[in-house]
Amino acid sequence: MAIIRVAVDVPLPTLFDYTVDESVAVGQRVIVPFGRREMVGVVMECVATSEMEPERIKPVVRVLHDSAPLSAELLDLLRFCSDYYRYPVGQTVLSALPGRLRSGQTVVSRPVLMYRLTASGAALDMEIFPRRRVVQRRILTRLAEQPCNLAQLKSLSATAVAQLKALLNDGYVEPCEARPMCGDKAVGHVFDNAHRLTDEQQHAVDAVAQADGYACFLLHGITGSGKTEVYVHLMHHVLQRGGQALLLVPEINLTPQLENYFRSRFPDVNLISLHSGLAEGERLTNWQQAQAGAAQIVLGTRLAVFAELPRLALIIVDEEHDSSFKQQDGLRYSARDVAIFRASQCGVPIVLGSATPSLESYCNAQSGRYRMLKLTGRAQAEAKLPEVRCISINQTVMRHGISENLLREIGLRIARREQSLLFINRRGYAPVLMCGGCGWLSGCKHCAGKMVLHLKDQRLRCHHCGYQQRVPQHCPDCGNADLHPVGSGTQRVESVLQERFPQARILRVDRDSTRSKRAWSSMREQIHANEVDILVGTQMLAKGHDFPALTLVGVLNPDSALYSSDFRAAEKLFAQLVQVSGRAGRADKPGEVIIQTAFPDHPLFRALQRHDFEGWAESQLAERRLAGFPPFMYQAMLRAEGRRETEVYAYLNQARAAAIELRQPVEVLGVVPAALARRANHVRAQLLIQATTRKAMRAFLRAWQPVLDGLSAAKLRCALDIDPLEF
Ligand code: ADP
Ligand code: ZN
Ligand code: ZN
Repeated sequence: MAIIRVAVDVPLPTLFDYTVDESVAVGQRVIVPFGRREMVGVVMECVATSEMEPERIKPVVRVLHDSAPLSAELLDLLRFCSDYYRYPVGQTVLSALPGRLRSGQTVVSRPVLMYRLTASGAALDMEIFPRRRVVQRRILTRLAEQPCNLAQLKSLSATAVAQLKALLNDGYVEPCEARPMCGDKAVGHVFDNAHRLTDEQQHAVDAVAQADGYACFLLHGITGSGKTEVYVHLMHHVLQRGGQALLLVPEINLTPQLENYFRSRFPDVNLISLHSGLAEGERLTNWQQAQAGAAQIVLGTRLAVFAELPRLALIIVDEEHDSSFKQQDGLRYSARDVAIFRASQCGVPIVLGSATPSLESYCNAQSGRYRMLKLTGRAQAEAKLPEVRCISINQTVMRHGISENLLREIGLRIARREQSLLFINRRGYAPVLMCGGCGWLSGCKHCAGKMVLHLKDQRLRCHHCGYQQRVPQHCPDCGNADLHPVGSGTQRVESVLQERFPQARILRVDRDSTRSKRAWSSMREQIHANEVDILVGTQMLAKGHDFPALTLVGVLNPDSALYSSDFRAAEKLFAQLVQVSGRAGRADKPGEVIIQTAFPDHPLFRALQRHDFEGWAESQLAERRLAGFPPFMYQAMLRAEGRRETEVYAYLNQARAAAIELRQPVEVLGVVPAALARRANHVRAQLLIQATTRKAMRAFLRAWQPVLDGLSAAKLRCALDIDPLEF
């Protein structure tokens, strides 16, 4: 009888001991009795003795042999995350797995990953194969070149799966094993080398390719400088040597597009994606392909940082500054930071790419901990950076939130058959209802937020807690019927524009209008086909899209971010405006950006006009240093929420007293309300800890955690957030 220590998905900081009478490997999944239930666990250690009395140790129910054991490397990474983010080890390990592996059902592993022509398929004469079976012809032609996986075939047509089935039934196509990939043997692949690299691009590629073991590079390239091309060449380099490349991207909406792009550059490479939008079965298959080493390129959102990659040779984090790399619940990890740890653990290079690096990364590059690689020019010589202009909203005629000057410019673009984009900073800028009589605002009765007006279905909705009601006819406070919207949401801007330009084709792109994946991709097609004159949208539109006919970007209300309580608000705004400005004038037409603001002389806008990220970053870093904020300080936030204010504050105050009691070199701040002090009838508050080094912070947290676990907080939701991004 051997004793194993097992990670189980329960909110307790320990592993659990069981006996097992067959041989098991570390990393294997097992079913164990837990309380009155049976649960799936992962074997973390095989040990000789247990601290428990032998008769109390229960035997495992079953060892699961249906999937390969997790690697020691991945388990180490997860242990590190559990310790660093102060999250129970069992929950950390299990949350990294695809859903199917977390459940006790046997997973049918699918070794068949590729399809190829049978002899009769190869003998088909395409001249006489029915013309109208368009998709089948496409699949056959593709497979005649080389075997393909399902994802590659899916990219040929929306009906590829059904048509593939027909071909399998007819005996023209058969499944086959994935292309064998062995050890570090170089494997040839087709590489579509589209461009001659610029000198700067070549320098960046060489620097990373020559890295021996771990090195972290910050690829700081202006929008349109060709960072993607650098990634492609680096992947090519890695694939030639038989390695796997991991590319992390922030936005799930961008993955299908990127997937197709990289697939077109590496037509016969097995590329898979991993993100939360995949169906469970597909996610498992893709994960297993990565684990088996069959997937050569793995493209994914933050969760992909936990993919098994036995031959990992390169990690790229695109748009590394993006806050969606940080998970905001459960294991509150930053995928960028975990990726850096993983790269150093595996001894491989990592590239962080951005036009507007986070101040954390920029600071590390300046200090020499990361290596800075710069792309200062646009890759296509004719593409110029857009001209940025500020319009002072105090000195111009405004039409329901849009200035006359901007409307005139939009009119000019419509006449020239060019596109305009109106960008709305979502934060604090959705329309709320106001009473002209007494100044009442449509506050949510369940939280501190304001209810947002949705014109289409005549409802007020709270975007924080989801509460909704019909738009009232009269002011609930004074009975006045003069209720009107203030602020400008996308819908309201849309209606102002429609009034001014009745002929114009206006497209609204926001969370509401792009809820379905298909909707968003058909919108993109419309934009590319120039079937749209004006785009109205939120940050969704700012990221990574290339719209050649777009020559004007109007920014409607950036000001709230300048005076936000969140010290990162200005950094985020700058990044967002650079991104959205980058949408204008990418092709042969010069672009223009017009910013409506009450503060046209603000240093942020000045820096934006000069396209001066460095200057802006330096001034921000100087401010942060003075104020004692990150990246010069490491932070941890204890958050608590509950129905009763007294309980929430009592808990945090006890936690605070205990923190001070520990007498460690950290700064314990006061207990304060959260930025959104009430949500869905819950009171929310927080306590911030700061330290000047990571080491001091980690030592403190290790000592503090057991104390926190001992405090009574039965009716509260509490969480520690390490390196928090939300305040
Ligand atoms: P970024 O990601 O840095 O914003 P992209 O990678 O999207 O920039 O590149 C911008 C455009 O420049 C793309 O259309 C790309 O095909 C093109 N491009 C990239 N590198 C080169 C090059 N070396 N020569 C010509 N065009 C290039
Ligand atoms: Zn009123
Ligand atoms: Zn609410």
